[in-house]
Amino acid sequence: MHRLGVLGWPVSHSRSPAMHNAAFAALGMRDWHYQRLPAPPEIFAETVLSLPASGFVGANVTIPHKEAALALATTAGDAARAIGAANTLSFGADGAIAAENTDAPGFLAALGEPPAGKVALVLGAGGSARAVAYALREAGAARVVVWNRTPERAQQLAADLGVDSSIRPIAADLLVNCTSVGLSDASLKGLPVDADGLDRYATVADLVYRAGGTVLIAEAQRRGCTVVDGLEVLVRQGALSFQAWTGREAPIDAMRQSARGSSPDQHDPGTSDPPDGRAADARRADR
Ligand code: NAP
Repeated sequence: MHRLGVLGWPVSHSRSPAMHNAAFAALGMRDWHYQRLPAPPEIFAETVLSLPASGFVGANVTIPHKEAALALATTAGDAARAIGAANTLSFGADGAIAAENTDAPGFLAALGEPPAGKVALVLGAGGSARAVAYALREAGAARVVVWNRTPERAQQLAADLGVDSSIRPIAADLLVNCTSVGLSDASLKGLPVDADGLDRYATVADLVYRAGGTVLIAEAQRRGCTVVDGLEVLVRQGALSFQAWTGREAPIDAMRQSARGSSPDQHDPGTSDPPDGRAADARRADR
């Protein structure tokens, strides 16, 4: 059995097990299985180091472990190093741990149309904003401008990645929401752009996803913008992780169908939430 999983805390909400197991089923890969791996920060490193002996060939990593995953790795890809975080680990037979960041290329794949020569406004300065800003810069965007609720974090991100920051939203070809606004309530509250301002953007992408879709995507669609939702980004980063582990082309349609149709499997072993009140975070639409 080739085992894979997603390490996070909390992780009971993750759609990755259903998505990857659907991919294995679509390709007839009966000896592969993907599961949730709930791990609080204090046991993250020992959990990762114990996985290869239990048949794990790799793992995805989600909140709050992406930086710790990079620190633990033996080798890391350019994107993971530049972004400062890894979401994909591969375990070698020799005990080596290779770290990658598939959030960045996954975002570009979800975008479809290459952003070369385009101006982009990125909202947020957390881990996903770093991945998106790096991806856009690498793909040749003419200008990448970062706005964040806490401006100092946007300035730091801009300095680290060689992009720009602004304390006000700018007009752009592409708007990408990398804040968690829209995750727990159906509103745009907290963003520097209101619904009527969305017509300043030809394309609107939202990293956040929630049951029924986000308000940002709905309002952008209503105004005729091209939209990219968070589930497509999830599917595309997952497909790249799948390819890294298996060496096979990911069955994107099966993964997308599963991600869009499935709810978290409460019967999967090891899905318990943290026993400290963060169970409400199970609604969070991260991997
Ligand atoms: P993070 O590192 O915790 O960053 C959160 C960002 O949101 C920060 O910039 C924070 O601003 C901002 N923020 C939080 N609450 C806000 C509010 N009320 N008003 C304005 N800004 C607010 O999180 P992350 O890992 O970047 O993830 C961000 C979102 O993307 C999450 O919802 C996550 O689920 C989603 N995501 C989706 C995918 C996917 O595959 N679709 C992948 C990664 C992440 P401050 O700096 O001011 O606190």
